[in-house]
Amino acid sequence: MYVVLLGPPGSGKGTQGSIIAEQLRISHLSTGDLFREILQNPSHPLYPQVQVVDEGKLVSDDVVNLVVEDGIRKPEYRNGVIFDGYPRTIAQARALDCMLAAMDKKVDLVLDLDVTQDVLLFRILGRQVCPKCKKVFHERQGFKNCPDCGGPLVRRNDDNEETILQRLEEYRKKTAPLQEYYSKSKAVYIKLYIDDASKTAEDVNKEILELMKQNNVLYEVV
Ligand SMILES: [Zn+2]
Repeated sequence: MYVVLLGPPGSGKGTQGSIIAEQLRISHLSTGDLFREILQNPSHPLYPQVQVVDEGKLVSDDVVNLVVEDGIRKPEYRNGVIFDGYPRTIAQARALDCMLAAMDKKVDLVLDLDVTQDVLLFRILGRQVCPKCKKVFHERQGFKNCPDCGGPLVRRNDDNEETILQRLEEYRKKTAPLQEYYSKSKAVYIKLYIDDASKTAEDVNKEILELMKQNNVLYEVV
Protein backbone atom coordinates (compact mmCIF):
# COMPACT_ATOMS: atom_id res chain seq x y z
CA MET A 1 0.00 0.00 0.00
CA TYR A 2 1.29 3.46 -0.92
CA VAL A 3 0.12 6.40 1.16
CA VAL A 4 0.77 10.12 0.74
CA LEU A 5 0.53 12.19 3.91
CA LEU A 6 -0.37 15.88 3.68
CA GLY A 7 -0.45 18.29 6.59
CA PRO A 8 1.03 21.61 7.70
CA PRO A 9 4.01 21.92 10.03
CA GLY A 10 2.76 21.08 13.52
CA SER A 11 -0.06 18.85 12.26
CA GLY A 12 1.48 15.73 13.76
CA LYS A 13 2.23 14.33 10.31
CA GLY A 14 5.53 12.76 11.32
CA THR A 15 4.00 11.13 14.40
CA GLN A 16 1.00 9.74 12.53
CA GLY A 17 3.30 8.62 9.72
CA SER A 18 5.35 6.44 12.06
CA ILE A 19 2.32 5.01 13.89
CA ILE A 20 0.45 4.17 10.69
CA ALA A 21 3.53 2.70 9.04
CA GLU A 22 3.81 0.26 11.94
CA GLN A 23 0.11 -0.54 11.94
CA LEU A 24 0.07 -1.28 8.22
CA ARG A 25 3.52 -2.91 8.19
CA ILE A 26 4.76 -0.49 5.59
CA SER A 27 7.75 1.85 5.71
CA HIS A 28 7.73 5.48 6.71
CA LEU A 29 9.76 7.32 4.10
CA SER A 30 11.11 10.77 4.83
CA THR A 31 13.09 12.42 2.06
CA GLY A 32 15.31 14.03 4.70
CA ASP A 33 16.45 10.58 5.84
CA LEU A 34 17.16 9.48 2.26
CA PHE A 35 19.22 12.62 1.64
CA ARG A 36 21.22 12.08 4.82
CA GLU A 37 21.90 8.45 3.89
CA ILE A 38 23.27 9.43 0.49
CA LEU A 39 25.41 12.19 2.00
CA GLN A 40 27.09 9.62 4.20
CA ASN A 41 28.05 7.59 1.17
CA PRO A 42 30.23 9.54 -1.32
CA SER A 43 30.28 6.60 -3.74
CA HIS A 44 26.49 6.73 -4.14
CA PRO A 45 25.63 7.61 -7.77
CA LEU A 46 23.41 10.49 -6.60
CA TYR A 47 25.99 11.91 -4.19
CA PRO A 48 27.15 14.80 -6.44
CA GLN A 49 23.59 16.01 -7.01
CA VAL A 50 22.60 15.65 -3.39
CA GLN A 51 25.70 17.40 -2.09
CA VAL A 52 24.41 20.78 -3.26
CA VAL A 53 21.72 20.54 -0.57
CA ASP A 54 24.46 20.39 2.00
CA GLU A 55 25.83 23.63 0.59
CA GLY A 56 22.46 25.22 1.32
CA LYS A 57 21.32 25.34 -2.29
CA LEU A 58 17.76 24.52 -3.20
CA VAL A 59 17.15 21.05 -4.64
CA SER A 60 15.29 20.72 -7.89
CA ASP A 61 12.25 18.49 -8.32
CA ASP A 62 14.40 16.26 -10.53
CA VAL A 63 16.92 15.54 -7.79
CA VAL A 64 14.24 14.88 -5.17
CA ASN A 65 12.49 12.52 -7.58
CA LEU A 66 15.71 10.63 -8.32
CA VAL A 67 16.41 10.24 -4.61
CA VAL A 68 12.90 8.90 -3.93
CA GLU A 69 13.02 6.57 -6.92
CA ASP A 70 16.33 5.20 -5.70
CA GLY A 71 14.90 4.88 -2.17
CA ILE A 72 11.63 3.07 -2.85
CA ARG A 73 13.42 0.33 -4.77
CA LYS A 74 15.20 -0.77 -1.64
CA PRO A 75 14.00 -4.04 -0.12
CA GLU A 76 12.82 -2.40 3.10
CA TYR A 77 10.22 -0.43 1.14
CA ARG A 78 8.87 -3.43 -0.76
CA ASN A 79 5.73 -3.82 1.35
CA GLY A 80 4.60 -0.29 0.78
CA VAL A 81 5.44 3.22 1.81
CA ILE A 82 3.91 6.12 3.64
CA PHE A 83 5.43 9.28 2.16
CA ASP A 84 6.05 12.14 4.57
CA GLY A 85 7.14 15.44 3.04
CA TYR A 86 6.90 14.16 -0.51
CA PRO A 87 5.51 15.03 -3.00
CA ARG A 88 5.58 18.77 -2.43
CA THR A 89 4.83 19.90 -5.97
CA ILE A 90 2.71 18.73 -8.88
CA ALA A 91 5.88 17.80 -10.79
CA GLN A 92 6.87 15.54 -7.89
CA ALA A 93 3.37 14.03 -7.67
CA ARG A 94 3.45 13.19 -11.38
CA ALA A 95 6.93 11.70 -11.07
CA LEU A 96 5.76 9.57 -8.15
CA ASP A 97 2.85 8.26 -10.22
CA CYS A 98 5.30 7.28 -12.98
CA MET A 99 7.71 5.56 -10.57
CA LEU A 100 4.94 3.56 -8.97
CA ALA A 101 3.38 2.70 -12.35
CA ALA A 102 6.75 1.30 -13.45
CA MET A 103 6.55 -1.01 -10.42
CA ASP A 104 2.93 -1.82 -11.22
CA LYS A 105 1.80 0.13 -8.14
CA LYS A 106 -0.06 3.35 -7.46
CA VAL A 107 -0.83 5.83 -4.71
CA ASP A 108 -3.68 4.07 -2.92
CA LEU A 109 -4.47 6.57 -0.25
CA VAL A 110 -3.95 10.26 0.52
CA LEU A 111 -4.29 11.30 4.16
CA ASP A 112 -4.78 15.01 4.53
CA LEU A 113 -4.45 16.28 8.11
CA ASP A 114 -6.46 19.46 8.11
CA VAL A 115 -5.60 21.10 11.40
CA THR A 116 -7.14 24.47 12.22
CA GLN A 117 -4.91 27.48 12.72
CA ASP A 118 -5.94 27.74 16.39
CA VAL A 119 -4.89 24.18 17.12
CA LEU A 120 -1.58 24.65 15.30
CA LEU A 121 -0.86 27.84 17.24
CA PHE A 122 -1.74 26.16 20.53
CA ARG A 123 0.52 23.21 19.79
CA ILE A 124 3.49 25.10 18.44
CA LEU A 125 3.39 28.10 20.80
CA GLY A 126 3.30 25.75 23.77
CA ARG A 127 6.06 23.56 22.44
CA GLN A 128 9.08 22.96 24.65
CA VAL A 129 12.20 21.14 23.62
CA CYS A 130 14.89 19.39 25.62
CA PRO A 131 18.19 20.64 24.16
CA LYS A 132 19.99 17.55 25.49
CA CYS A 133 17.88 14.67 24.19
CA LYS A 134 15.79 16.63 21.63
CA LYS A 135 12.48 15.34 22.99
CA VAL A 136 9.46 17.60 22.51
CA PHE A 137 6.87 18.42 25.16
CA HIS A 138 3.99 20.84 25.66
CA GLU A 139 3.54 23.49 28.34
CA ARG A 140 0.24 21.95 29.38
CA GLN A 141 2.17 18.90 30.62
CA GLY A 142 3.61 21.20 33.26
CA PHE A 143 7.26 20.11 33.03
CA LYS A 144 10.08 22.54 33.83
CA ASN A 145 12.75 19.94 33.24
CA CYS A 146 12.92 17.03 30.83
CA PRO A 147 11.29 14.01 32.51
CA ASP A 148 13.74 11.74 30.67
CA CYS A 149 17.14 13.33 31.17
CA GLY A 150 16.50 16.20 33.60
CA GLY A 151 17.69 18.98 31.28
CA PRO A 152 15.84 22.32 31.47
CA LEU A 153 13.21 22.67 28.72
CA VAL A 154 13.41 25.60 26.30
CA ARG A 155 11.36 27.07 23.47
CA ARG A 156 12.55 27.39 19.90
CA ASN A 157 13.19 30.92 18.73
CA ASP A 158 11.18 30.50 15.57
CA ASP A 159 8.14 29.15 17.41
CA ASN A 160 6.39 32.52 17.51
CA GLU A 161 3.01 33.46 16.12
CA GLU A 162 4.35 35.47 13.20
CA THR A 163 6.65 32.74 11.87
CA ILE A 164 4.02 30.06 12.36
CA LEU A 165 1.41 32.00 10.40
CA GLN A 166 3.98 32.60 7.67
CA ARG A 167 4.87 28.91 7.48
CA LEU A 168 1.19 28.02 7.37
CA GLU A 169 0.45 30.47 4.58
CA GLU A 170 3.37 29.09 2.57
CA TYR A 171 2.16 25.55 3.16
CA ARG A 172 -1.38 26.38 2.02
CA LYS A 173 -0.18 28.00 -1.17
CA LYS A 174 2.08 25.08 -2.03
CA THR A 175 -0.34 22.35 -1.06
CA ALA A 176 -3.58 23.55 -2.61
CA PRO A 177 -2.59 22.31 -6.09
CA LEU A 178 -1.58 18.92 -4.65
CA GLN A 179 -4.89 18.57 -2.83
CA GLU A 180 -6.66 19.23 -6.09
CA TYR A 181 -4.41 16.82 -7.99
CA TYR A 182 -5.07 13.98 -5.57
CA SER A 183 -8.77 14.61 -5.11
CA LYS A 184 -9.12 14.08 -8.87
CA SER A 185 -6.89 10.99 -8.89
CA LYS A 186 -7.88 7.37 -8.32
CA ALA A 187 -6.42 7.37 -4.82
CA VAL A 188 -8.82 7.31 -1.88
CA TYR A 189 -8.70 10.79 -0.39
CA ILE A 190 -9.27 11.07 3.34
CA LYS A 191 -9.37 14.48 4.94
CA LEU A 192 -9.24 14.57 8.69
CA TYR A 193 -10.44 17.80 10.21
CA ILE A 194 -8.77 18.53 13.55
CA ASP A 195 -10.14 21.51 15.48
CA ASP A 196 -9.70 20.25 19.03
CA ALA A 197 -6.33 20.89 20.63
CA SER A 198 -6.96 18.41 23.42
CA LYS A 199 -6.91 15.46 21.00
CA THR A 200 -3.91 13.20 21.49
CA ALA A 201 -1.95 11.43 18.76
CA GLU A 202 -3.80 8.22 19.73
CA ASP A 203 -7.19 9.92 19.31
CA VAL A 204 -6.24 11.19 15.88
CA ASN A 205 -4.86 7.79 14.92
CA LYS A 206 -8.11 6.05 15.92
CA GLU A 207 -10.07 8.47 13.75
CA ILE A 208 -7.77 7.86 10.79
CA LEU A 209 -8.18 4.08 11.09
CA GLU A 210 -11.95 4.47 11.40
CA LEU A 211 -12.09 6.59 8.23
CA MET A 212 -9.87 4.08 6.43
CA LYS A 213 -12.30 1.31 7.39
CA GLN A 214 -15.24 3.32 6.11
CA ASN A 215 -13.39 3.89 2.83
CA ASN A 216 -12.42 0.22 2.46
CA VAL A 217 -8.71 0.90 2.46
CA LEU A 218 -7.93 -0.76 5.77
CA TYR A 219 -6.81 -4.29 5.02
CA GLU A 220 -4.81 -5.30 8.03
CA VAL A 221 -3.84 -3.56 11.20
CA VAL A 222 -1.09 -4.86 13.43
ZN1 LIG B 1 15.90 15.33 27.75
